[in-house]
Amino acid sequence: MNNWYLHDGLVFRNGRLLKEDILILKGRIAAFGSEAARMRRECSVPIRDYDAGSCVVSHGFIDLHVHLREPGFESKETIETGTKAAAAGGFTTVYAMPNTEPPLDSVERLFELKERIRQSAFVGVEPIAAVTKGRAGGEISDLAGLVHHGVRLFSDDGDPVESGIIKGVMEQLASINGVLVNHLEEKSLLRSGLFWDAVPPESEYIMLERDLTLVAETNCRYHAAHLSCARSVELIGKAKQEGLPVTAEVTPHHLTLTKDDIAFPEGNYQMKPPLRTEADRLALIEGLRTGVIDAVATDHAPHGREKDGVIYPDSPFGVTGLETAFPVLYSNLVLTGRLQLERLLAALTTGPGKVAGQSGELKIGEVGDIVVLDLECRRTVEADKFFSRGTNSPYIGQKFRGWPVLTLVNGVAKYSAGRPDPKHSKEAH
Ligand SMILES: [Zn+2]
Repeated sequence: MNNWYLHDGLVFRNGRLLKEDILILKGRIAAFGSEAARMRRECSVPIRDYDAGSCVVSHGFIDLHVHLREPGFESKETIETGTKAAAAGGFTTVYAMPNTEPPLDSVERLFELKERIRQSAFVGVEPIAAVTKGRAGGEISDLAGLVHHGVRLFSDDGDPVESGIIKGVMEQLASINGVLVNHLEEKSLLRSGLFWDAVPPESEYIMLERDLTLVAETNCRYHAAHLSCARSVELIGKAKQEGLPVTAEVTPHHLTLTKDDIAFPEGNYQMKPPLRTEADRLALIEGLRTGVIDAVATDHAPHGREKDGVIYPDSPFGVTGLETAFPVLYSNLVLTGRLQLERLLAALTTGPGKVAGQSGELKIGEVGDIVVLDLECRRTVEADKFFSRGTNSPYIGQKFRGWPVLTLVNGVAKYSAGRPDPKHSKEAH
């Protein structure tokens, strides 16, 4: 069933929330408002009516930064489990980082990955390709070939692009309309440890300064991954004022937690970049509010049970995020008056859409990628309810308000009132 009449919801489009109905026919948005109601009455095909009263209806969320782990690390996550988690979180498109085994670094591997996605993904998956072969930092991948086959974003995420090659990478990407997504971490400034004291803010912003200078020289489209400190927000703001083609993202955990929140099990608060100070957190919120930061991205990084207990020196970095992103941000930022709901929704739809070259806007004729959010729904985060294989979340046991209740991809329900609809799982990709 890909015909829907979503009625009485508060619909987010053109940057505003307005009570109106939406009609979706054959998986595409057919009409809004009174025109939708009229067409619904006159339509002879079967249509599913959905009461979206007390809910917000938005374009499905777009996540520019997830780790699906497949191929290579299927004990942590697969394309299937990761995209079920995405659907449950209201995400209809996720951009998958290439730190898999093998990494996505060639056209041949792109085809292999696309076949896996075709077979098992519950939502749209757009691969991000590695900047260098094997993500090894030396030889540059076939960027032009990958762009030719539809890749737009490039990253060696987990590792930054080294000084010796980054200018050449930017020059190439500028000429083929690719986007460099850099993981900002100047390794020479790292110290031993797992948290803020080991990965100081300078390791991020000194590299960002280097990159922005090169953006000015090459005019490469540049996207700064997971900003974590106040100085980085300042630098992006200044670069935008100067008209440089830069964008930036921030994660839910950096917007809602600081180093002072770290508790047992500490592995669930251990990620790169690390949690920092309250001043940094407030600067990130302000950056998001003013539009200096374009997008919320989860940096969903599932791991197995190895982060459950006492932390150890090689404990892997990263936390899961797809299933909790909206309720965590709505409860922490919108209900507290720090951020407008419209701004949060834009940062999950049109903001990332603009970075990646997709619309993210509800429009007549567009595919029905939609999330319905119940703003009254209150739920406690429980690890054993996750669709993700990763349970490494700092929010386990906490109660949040505002949960996705229906996710449509191409007009097909991929998540509904608690579980993905397996009947329809093969219909749309
Ligand atoms: Zn990263």
